[in-house]
Amino acid sequence: MKLFRIRGGVHPDDRKTLSASQPIVTLPMPELLHIPVQQHIGAAAQPAVRRGQIVRKGDLLARNQGAISAPVHAPTSGRIMGIGNFPANHPSGLSVRTITLKPDGEDRWTDKLTPCDDPFALEPAEVAQRVADAGIVGMGGATFPSAVKLNLRDRYRLHTLVINGAECEPYLTCDDRLMQENAAEVIDGIRIMAHALGVSRTLIGIENNKPDAQRLMREAAQAFDGVEVVGLPTRYPMGSEKHLVQTLTGRETPARALTADIGIVVHNVATAYAVHEALRLGYPLVERTVTVSGGAVKNPANLRVLIGTPVSSLLDYCGGTVEEPARMISGGPMMGQPLPSTRVPIVKGSNGVLALTGKETASRPEGACIRCASCVNACPCGLLPLEMAARAKVGDLDGTVKIGLMDCVACGSCSYVCPSNIPLVQYFNYAKGELAARQRSKHKQLETKRLAEQRTARMEEQKRKKREQMEKRKREAAEAKRKKAAAAAQTEANA
Ligand code: SF4
Ligand code: SF4
Repeated sequence: MKLFRIRGGVHPDDRKTLSASQPIVTLPMPELLHIPVQQHIGAAAQPAVRRGQIVRKGDLLARNQGAISAPVHAPTSGRIMGIGNFPANHPSGLSVRTITLKPDGEDRWTDKLTPCDDPFALEPAEVAQRVADAGIVGMGGATFPSAVKLNLRDRYRLHTLVINGAECEPYLTCDDRLMQENAAEVIDGIRIMAHALGVSRTLIGIENNKPDAQRLMREAAQAFDGVEVVGLPTRYPMGSEKHLVQTLTGRETPARALTADIGIVVHNVATAYAVHEALRLGYPLVERTVTVSGGAVKNPANLRVLIGTPVSSLLDYCGGTVEEPARMISGGPMMGQPLPSTRVPIVKGSNGVLALTGKETASRPEGACIRCASCVNACPCGLLPLEMAARAKVGDLDGTVKIGLMDCVACGSCSYVCPSNIPLVQYFNYAKGELAARQRSKHKQLETKRLAEQRTARMEEQKRKKREQMEKRKREAAEAKRKKAAAAAQTEANA
């Protein structure tokens, strides 16, 4: 199949050999699970259990709130130990609302599972509803609730499903192993998603550094019309949604638009596997595969892990670290986030835990920009990273937006190539965070104003009703007085 060139990109040392040959192993049950109620983009789920409650695997722990949200389910059977704040898998290290579960060791499934023999006989909307009920979110790290994307057929003229099996981040091999070991299940999930979207064409993009995954997925897909596995050049960030679509189809998604605007929906291979499990077996999303790697890890591995498992349990299973890691990362080294502590739990979007040595991180002091334009050449979005960073540095956030900040996919290619070691992507993430905080504060102000206006209107209404009631009572008293006087006059006249 003809592929199309995208601009920019880099070729970091992929370091995948550390874990690529490690089959997926199920991590033993940890002593405690810490399950945050927010593991997705959108509104946090609302706890639906109380302290001391006994739950079974798959029982609902927290209910989704609103259109963009996802429920959270019990990863195993046990007792709820509490609901409170716990450090989150986020660089800020801030605590988030978390449900703590003590496993009973029996791992008994709930009796509320609804397996389906033939998902293709279901209406597309019902498939999407089952995916929503299972709490499935984009498992490549984006964590957007998957059902929302499966429901796009009503609003867009869709024709193609693109499956992201690129796994272009260095070190990560969990998608590679999943495609090798569960190719039939992944293909089944992909076909179920294509059915929900109503599309007849599916393209599965896998980078050429995963020949076994390509072969096995091709074999699993060959019996099905319209499903094609395509080998992609190994180039970061091939897994970026818009660039993947452009490489496979030649279609460019306009700035600020969705790929759905050009008729294409993108999902990840791990998401497809979760969809297979949800539809065929009725399983909600309670576990995922995670790569544990990096030069500081004694025995790098690919692990099947219950959501809520502390990162420390994964590292312990891998034999711990051979030296003090210079950097701990959740996700890949290019787009991942620093891990604030190994106490934080694995969540639905966690695809990697990396413990990197000083040699691997090789961090050098930040120098001055020499205007070499390497960052401009590397940017796959055609942006001017040096200019954006200069504006972000002086706090000119509106200026960064004007020259394309919101089109930046935070891939880190610019930082990677910068000879002056300027952490460009960190400036952009900071600027985006500030803008989001500004937006939230503006929203809060508007909301406060709206609530104050509502309260004033309510009080005015109460005053008006009170006044009307008083006037009514006055009228009734006067009427009663008048009637009494008339009755007295009548009595006097009769006497
Ligand atoms: S790569 Fe670094 S030094 Fe070169 S222009 Fe960009 S910011 Fe400046
Ligand atoms: S982080 Fe943003 S600016 Fe830098 S290369 Fe990636 S898309 Fe371009």
